[in-house]
Amino acid sequence: MIGSQITFAEDEKSDGGRTEKRPLIISTWPFGKPGNEVALKTVEAGKSTLDAVEAGIRHVEASGNQTVGLSGKPNAAGFAQLDACIMHGPGHKAGSVAAIEGIKHPISVARRVMEKTPHVMLAGDGARWFALQEGFESIDISERPKKVKAWKKEQKQRRSEAPAGSAENHDTITMLVLGPDGTLSGGCSTSGLADKLPGRVGDSPILGGGLYVDNKVGAAGATGIGENVMRYCATFMIVEFMRQGLSPTDACKKIIERIKSYEPENKNLAINFIAIDKQGRFGAAGTDKFPHSVTYPGFSEVLTADAV
Ligand code: ASP
Repeated sequence: MIGSQITFAEDEKSDGGRTEKRPLIISTWPFGKPGNEVALKTVEAGKSTLDAVEAGIRHVEASGNQTVGLSGKPNAAGFAQLDACIMHGPGHKAGSVAAIEGIKHPISVARRVMEKTPHVMLAGDGARWFALQEGFESIDISERPKKVKAWKKEQKQRRSEAPAGSAENHDTITMLVLGPDGTLSGGCSTSGLADKLPGRVGDSPILGGGLYVDNKVGAAGATGIGENVMRYCATFMIVEFMRQGLSPTDACKKIIERIKSYEPENKNLAINFIAIDKQGRFGAAGTDKFPHSVTYPGFSEVLTADAV
């Protein structure tokens, strides 16, 4: 914890927070907090919000956390396939990789796709090929068969405890940064749902699904069961709700209410959102209580959004 108290304006107590301090960083889950702090230092050292997002997410990818990066939970065939994307407000730039294997920092590959290719998204073998060409740190994926054997052994029990696609089987780092000059950047990185089918792509690398940044308005990110996010272009909608005047918290709540209205009442959607606007307001909402990390100069805390 960096200290100090969060500043809620009187009329904003039920509506997230607001700060004049910059940079402002918000990310998913308590494991985002050390990443936020790396992002904060990055901007304070004079680097860009894009550098901050990349550095913060790299920190989480390398942390050995079981849900992000190469240490993330394997797919149904026993190996990790990773998804990541990055967006930079100025110029409305974006890059993304999906179902990439054996690469340590997918977030940096997503940034390289954005900066060095005419494309937005690379997937599967092509994404790995590009990462290797560009010299990114990798592991030997010919080891795969050994891992598959071990994974299959436990598969039956694992599936009875937490079936594929269930609420227990996910996690993602999604991070949004508002810089001192009002610049917005965001990124996400994940191993996706544990036990997913090989080749399954979640919401995290999909622009408007797991992440959306509009430098004129704000940014939003997601974590949870990707199928319940991407079918509704959820983060794109959150940014549009903010454009219409909703606060970040209300925009996150509104998309959850919208999605719920289309889905069976008893379905566990397991979806969570964070958002930040150009004015420095920030908020979150989830279908369950949703811990998320908020950091700005003098403040770094895990806050919990109420369930919608
Ligand atoms: N959204 C990710 C996916 O569906 C998982 C997560 O955030 O927990 O791949």
